[in-house]
Amino acid sequence: MSQIRKIHTQLKNKEITCTKLVQDRLDLLKQNTHNTVNSLLDESALALAKKVDAKIENGETIGLLEGIPFGIKDVYMLQGTYTTASSDLLKKYKSPYTATAIQKLLDAGAIPLAKENCDSFGHGSSSENTIFGAVKNAIHPEFVGGGSSGGSAVNVAKDFTVFSIGGDTGGSVRQPAGYNNVFGLKPTYGRISRFGLMAYASSTDCVGPIAKSIEDIRIVLNVMSGKDIKDLTTYESQEISEEKILKANDIKTVGYFKNFIENKAIDPQIKADFLTSIAKIKATGIEVKALDFFESETLVSTYYTLAMAETASNLSRLDGTNYGNRIEGKNLKDTYSITRSENFSEESKRRIVGGNQVLSQGFSDEIYLKGLNLRDQISESFEKDFKEVDIILSPVTPNTPPKIGDSLKDLLAMYLSDAYTVGFSLGQLPTLTIPKGTETGMQITAAKNNDELVLKFANFLKDTL
Ligand code: GLN
Repeated sequence: MSQIRKIHTQLKNKEITCTKLVQDRLDLLKQNTHNTVNSLLDESALALAKKVDAKIENGETIGLLEGIPFGIKDVYMLQGTYTTASSDLLKKYKSPYTATAIQKLLDAGAIPLAKENCDSFGHGSSSENTIFGAVKNAIHPEFVGGGSSGGSAVNVAKDFTVFSIGGDTGGSVRQPAGYNNVFGLKPTYGRISRFGLMAYASSTDCVGPIAKSIEDIRIVLNVMSGKDIKDLTTYESQEISEEKILKANDIKTVGYFKNFIENKAIDPQIKADFLTSIAKIKATGIEVKALDFFESETLVSTYYTLAMAETASNLSRLDGTNYGNRIEGKNLKDTYSITRSENFSEESKRRIVGGNQVLSQGFSDEIYLKGLNLRDQISESFEKDFKEVDIILSPVTPNTPPKIGDSLKDLLAMYLSDAYTVGFSLGQLPTLTIPKGTETGMQITAAKNNDELVLKFANFLKDTL
């Protein structure tokens, strides 16, 4: 059921005022104990709501997204608001401009309520790597909210926001969506502009909507998509219509990766539930193929090699000169070093050090170029697969969410928990988490630029599983 359509009708029919709608959600966000909010945009949100109410009062028509409250992961620029990346370094940094994706939502009339808690600079899988306190899971608050877009997923799951905009580099929208039982889409790389999204690993960073229905994902995706001269990796895409994704009769073959399911690290219940879902799909007459793929360890190490290299390079600009919380030292070099040592989290520093090692002379051929080469092989393997199957299905995570505190004790386990999401990121493919099939959901993936097919199959599974 589309929350956006439901609220739109209520607003139009004057069953609720936008001011009350916004105020209620702001109250929920403010009082919530899940640590989902870094800053509340109450003043601007209420001012915007008032304008929507005036329009309705005047008998003017309002657009579908007009007056719909949403949340923004705290890594997006929104002019005049704090954009902290949940870090000490940018604790007091205010956005001088607005990200393209967010601007498009504003132009459509949607109302931002909060900048949402996340792992600092997107570094993490649990939303514990943040100066604002660990995000608590929407269903079991003693568990993590997932990450890095944990605050965004929890806000949607708890109905604090109607939808939220997360960011996905290696699973950060899909995994928290799975952990909190909502939908989360990582579109094809380049479908939505990254301009104004703080860069983590630029070659896989994607803007991704989190919502409670496929229809809401579709609506928000359409609004944010499109070519942007400020991000030259973007491309022009076709709007996905509601009708086009209703019937899935052109989906004939579905594949899944054998080694994901046979891996000894997978939770036995997730494995059993995934196989039950596969059996149900087979029973509808769709052909199911078990495919070969790279081992989890290879996927995770390739992803982290490249992601660390890119983040080390991207974050090198944060030295306290143009941005961030500067701490003066004896001389300039000292100032850089103290500013960065004191203000980056342990996890971010680990990645910066690792990334600089990967890129350094004498190591880069051995590590970085090997990573790039493996990425090409992964892409080729996907191309081959999509000649045989229309869709690839996979669990979102090998395990259920850990307890708060546990991931910090076992970092390798945390990195390995990304095993099922990072491969699709390296392939730059469209992939969606649906809250069905296993306790942490299922991931539906299609070939590049085929986001429509992903949503179509999600609709089909809604009735099948
Ligand atoms: N957990 C992965 C990482 O830490 C993915 C994070 C993300 O997509 N931002 O890199």
